Amino acid sequence: MTKWVYTFGDGAAEGRAGDRNLLGGKGANLAEMCSLGLPVPPGFTITTEVCNAYYANARCYPASLEADVAVALDHIGRLTGRRFGDPSKLLLVSVRSGARASMPGMMDTVLNLGLNDETVEALAADSGDARFAYDSYRRFIQMYSDVVMGLDHEVFEEILEDQKGGLGHELDTELTAIEWQSVIALYKAKVEEELGKPFPQDPHEQLWGAISAVFSSWMNNRAITYRRLHDIPESWGTAVNVQAMVFGNMGDTSATGVAFTRNPSTGEKMLYGEFLVNAQGEDVVAGIRTPQNITEAARIAAGSDKPSLQKLMPDAFQSFVTISDNLEKHYRDMQDLEFTIERGKLWMLQTRSGKRTAKAALKIAVEMARDKLISKEEAVARIDPASLDQLLHPTIDPKAARDVIGVGLPASPGAATGEIVFSSNDAEEAKAQGRKAILVRIETSPEDIHGMHAAEGILTTRGGMTSHAAVVARGMGKPCVSGAGSLRVDYRAGTLMAMGSTFRKGDTITIDGANGQVLKGAVPMLQPELSGDFAAIMEWADAARRMKVRTNAETPLDARMARSFGAEGIGLCRTEHMFFDGDRIVAMREMILADTEKDRRTALAKLLPMQRSDFLELFEIMAGLPVTIRLLDPPLHEFLPKTEEEVAEVAAAMKVSPDKLRQRTEALHEFNPMLGHRGCRLAVSYPEIAEMQARAIFEAAVEAGRKAGALVVPEIMVPLVGLVKELDYVKARIDAVARSVMEETGVKITYLTGTMIELPRAAIRAHVIAEAAEFFSFGTNDLTQTTFGISRDDAASFLETYRQKGIIEQDPFVSLDIEGVGELVRMAAEKGRATRPDIKLGICGEHGGDPSSIHFCEKVGLDYVSCSPYRVPIARLAAAQAAVQVAKLGRG
Ligand code: ADP
Ligand code: MG
Ligand code: MG
Repeated sequence: MTKWVYTFGDGAAEGRAGDRNLLGGKGANLAEMCSLGLPVPPGFTITTEVCNAYYANARCYPASLEADVAVALDHIGRLTGRRFGDPSKLLLVSVRSGARASMPGMMDTVLNLGLNDETVEALAADSGDARFAYDSYRRFIQMYSDVVMGLDHEVFEEILEDQKGGLGHELDTELTAIEWQSVIALYKAKVEEELGKPFPQDPHEQLWGAISAVFSSWMNNRAITYRRLHDIPESWGTAVNVQAMVFGNMGDTSATGVAFTRNPSTGEKMLYGEFLVNAQGEDVVAGIRTPQNITEAARIAAGSDKPSLQKLMPDAFQSFVTISDNLEKHYRDMQDLEFTIERGKLWMLQTRSGKRTAKAALKIAVEMARDKLISKEEAVARIDPASLDQLLHPTIDPKAARDVIGVGLPASPGAATGEIVFSSNDAEEAKAQGRKAILVRIETSPEDIHGMHAAEGILTTRGGMTSHAAVVARGMGKPCVSGAGSLRVDYRAGTLMAMGSTFRKGDTITIDGANGQVLKGAVPMLQPELSGDFAAIMEWADAARRMKVRTNAETPLDARMARSFGAEGIGLCRTEHMFFDGDRIVAMREMILADTEKDRRTALAKLLPMQRSDFLELFEIMAGLPVTIRLLDPPLHEFLPKTEEEVAEVAAAMKVSPDKLRQRTEALHEFNPMLGHRGCRLAVSYPEIAEMQARAIFEAAVEAGRKAGALVVPEIMVPLVGLVKELDYVKARIDAVARSVMEETGVKITYLTGTMIELPRAAIRAHVIAEAAEFFSFGTNDLTQTTFGISRDDAASFLETYRQKGIIEQDPFVSLDIEGVGELVRMAAEKGRATRPDIKLGICGEHGGDPSSIHFCEKVGLDYVSCSPYRVPIARLAAAQAAVQVAKLGRG
C-alpha cells in the first residue's frame, strides 16, 4: 500500500533530505534536521503523491489518508504529551505547504490551528499568559479565514486598525488580553456577516480545511504564474506539512526570525538575518514592525539602536550559531533558515539552500571550493549560467556626483536608471514603448511579478532584506532598494515625496542596489569588473570544457567586448550588418538596386574598401583566433529604401530618376523575402558580389598577417545552401579570387570554405555537402524557421498561445527544439563526419548562448558554439557544465 504520510520528530524521521520529490523541499529538510538531532517541533508530511492523486481523482483524497493522518497526529501527541482537539492537553499545529522547489509567497501557511472559543481559554490557562492566547487566536482567525475561506485579510486589518486607533495603541503587541477578546468578537462577527456561516470551531474540520486549502493553492493563479516563470512542471505537486506549534509570541523571552548563513547579496561569510521579539510567523518579512539584527556586528554596521539577538538572548543565539554552522557544513551550501524562540528555547522551523545574487553565488562557490568543502567542478556546476548576466551590468561610477533623495536597504545589487512608475501595468507599458522604468511601490506582492520583470529596477518604501520585493528581485537579478522609509508614496496622487521634493510618474531616478541609495536623475555608470571570483569560476570552467566559445560579431565594439568576455574567435560575422550605418547603406542600396552587372560592379567597388578595412580590424582584434565570415545573406527587403527621402538619396547617388528607382524597388519586391532571393542564391545570380567579398577577406587577411607576423586563417561561410552544386559554384569563385590575390600579393593564403546548415535539405544531404564544405555552422534560427515552417517574426502572436495550451513547452527560437531541429543537427553532424572526418562543426544561431541548447551541442560533439558577446561568459560556463555532465552520464 502506498505510504501517504511521513512523520518526523524527536531525533528521528521517516524521510530524508533526498526525499524532496516525495516530501517537498520543506518536508524533506524538516525530516533531515530531525535526524540530525536538531530541535524541530514534531510533525508529519503528506506527500506530493497525494496532491497528484487529489487532482487526478476530482479533488478526492486516497481512501486511507484520513486514517493515516489520525495515526500521525497521535505520533505528534505522543512526542509532545498532548492531543489534538483535547482542551485538557491542547495540541496546536501549523499547516504548511512545501513543493519540491521553493515557491516564495505562492503557498500560504496557517498557524495556531486547533484554537476555538474553548481551547483558547485552555491555552491561556496553560501558558499563564492570556494576552498570548488571544493574540494567537486572532492570528488564527485572520489566517484561516484568508487562506482557507477566501476572506481578504484587509477586512481584519481594518477592524484592528480601528480598534488600535480607538484604544490609542500603535503596535499590535500593546493590546491586552481583554482588548484582543473584543477584536476576536468583531472578527467572528465579520466572518459570519461576509460568509454567512460561523468561523469553524471543530479542530478536525479546521485541519482538513487547511490541508485542502494547501492542495488547492497548487492550482491558484499566483502559483501557476510562478511555475510558468520558473519552468516548474505542474506534475511535481506540493506536499503538506503539519507540525506542532511553538510560539514566538509568548512575551519578551520569545521571538521569531529568519537568517542566512552568509550574506545573500554579497556572499560574505557571516551570519546574516533579522528577528522580532514577541512575534509569530511572517511578522518579520511582512514589514509590520522593523526587524532587529541577529548579530552585534550586523547591528553596528546597520547603525541600529535596537538590540541584537546576540545581546538580547545570548543562549538561544549561541545555539543558533552552532546549528547554522553545522547545517551549512552538512548541506555544503549556504542555508536560509527560519527559527522561533519560545521562552528562551530555540526551535528550527526550516532550512533550505538560500537564494542569492549571482555575485554572492560566485563568492560562495569559490570560497567553498577553496575551503575544500566542495570541488572546483562542483563550484562550476553550482552557478546558474543565465545568472551571470547580472554581473555584466553596470554600477554607478564612484566619481559621479550623487543627489541622494532617500536611502533604503541594498536588497539586490546593480544600479538602474529609469522613469518612475507606480504600478506594474505602467512598468509593462513603459517597457512595451521602449522606455526604462523604475517600479516604485510601498511594497510588492506576487501580483507584481510581471511589473518587476518589465522594470529596470524596483524601489519599495516598506519591507526588509527578506521582503517579497527583495527576494524576487534578487532572483531576477534586478537592482532593488527596499524599505526606503523616508520616502512617501501616494498612489492616488501619483507622487513620490522625498526630502521635501515631490517626484511624479515619469520623472527620472536612479537606484543603487549596492548601498540602498535613491538618487535624483540619471547618474554615470561603470562597466562591470570581470576579475576576482568571476575570473576564478571562469578559469575553472575553461579547464572543464571541451567546446570552444566564439561570438557573433561584426562591429569592432562587439568584437572587443566579446574578447574581454573570453570569446575564442568569431563564429558568425554577418557582412550585411556592416552596411546599415551612414553612407554605407546608400552604397549597399545602390548595389542591390543596380540592374546591370556593370552598375553592380561600380557599387561593389565602393563597398570593397569598406569591407576590407572592417575585416582587417576584426582580424586584428581577434589576433589569430578563427574568424568566420558569412557572405551576403540579406532577405533583400531589409535593405530596400522605404521612405521617399531614402529613395531620393539613393537615386541621386546612382544618378537615376527616383521614378526609375521606385520601379526597380517594386521589381525586387518579394512575397516572402525570408524564403526568397537571399543567401547563396544571390551569389549564384550575381557572383561578382561573392567575388568582391572574397577579395576583401583575402586582402585583409594578407595585411593582418603581415602586420602581426603570423598567419590569419579566414573561414568563409556560404549561407542558405540546399544543393551541393550551389556550394560548388560559389566555392569555385572564392577559390579563383584566392588564387588571384595570392598572385598579386605573392603571399600564400590558407582559408577554409564551409556552409551554414540552415535548411532541412542541407541536413539531409550533409554527407554530400561535406565533400565541398570544410566546416558546417548550424544556423539554427533559420533551421528552426524552415523545419517548423514558422516565420520567427510572425511567431509571437501564436507561440504564446501554444505555450499556454501546453502544445509547446518552450519557444523553439529561444531553446533549441531538440527532438525536431536537434535531430536534424545530429544527423547532419554524423553525415558530415562520415564524409569528412575532420569537418569543423559549430552553431551560430541564438541557441549558441542558451544553456540547454549548449548542453545538446556538447552531446552531439560540436566543436564550438557561437553567441552574442554578452552571452559569451554564459556559454563558457554552460559548456563546462555540459562537458562535466556528459563525461559523467555519457551522450545518451
Ligand atoms: P513559507 O513557505 O512561506 O516560508 P512556512 O511554512 O515556512 O511558510 O511558514 C511561515 C512561517 O510560519 C515560518 O517561518 C514560521 O515562522 C512560522 N511557522 C510555521 N510552522 C510553525 C510552527 N509549527 N510553529 C511556529 N511557527 C511556525
Ligand atoms: Mg509564506
Ligand atoms: Mg518558510
